[in-house]
Amino acid sequence: MNKDEKAVGDLSTNFWKFELRCPCKKCRRKRVLVDDLLLFKLEMVRVECGNKPMTINSGNRCPEENKKVGGYPDSAHVPMPKGKGVDAKIKGVKPLDIGLAAEKVGGLRIGIGKTYCHLDVKPPCPSKYWIYMKRRAPIYSAKIENKSLIRFYKIVMGGR
Ligand SMILES: [Zn+2]
Ligand SMILES: [Zn+2]
Repeated sequence: MNKDEKAVGDLSTNFWKFELRCPCKKCRRKRVLVDDLLLFKLEMVRVECGNKPMTINSGNRCPEENKKVGGYPDSAHVPMPKGKGVDAKIKGVKPLDIGLAAEKVGGLRIGIGKTYCHLDVKPPCPSKYWIYMKRRAPIYSAKIENKSLIRFYKIVMGGR
């Protein structure tokens, strides 16, 4: 391969196993299992956000790692049998804007954090969106506004 040619990821065009691997020591040699639909959607969100590099903060988590980082027991990050969720960021793109791009792509649940956006392909149960709050439980959309991310976001965050 030409040295200048951009290498293609080993999971999908722009994503690599090492980026989505559970970070714990125990999982270093385990297979990285990621849902193909999630990868397809991530590629689409990436394009919607201007085709810039998407950084994966968290991909697969084994149950122990998930517990350690305070994830929900049935988190989309835990492969069952494949990982269905990531926490991602894109330099220069706000988490909310990644979320809005994901809403446009469709079929994703969206969690807005301060520095990252959680995206997963699990069906709404019942919330489609949530916002991570500092030192307290996330606020979920099902009881507030489950149809539009921006409306939900504005109701929760007010003028911000
Ligand atoms: Zn692990
Ligand atoms: Zn997450």
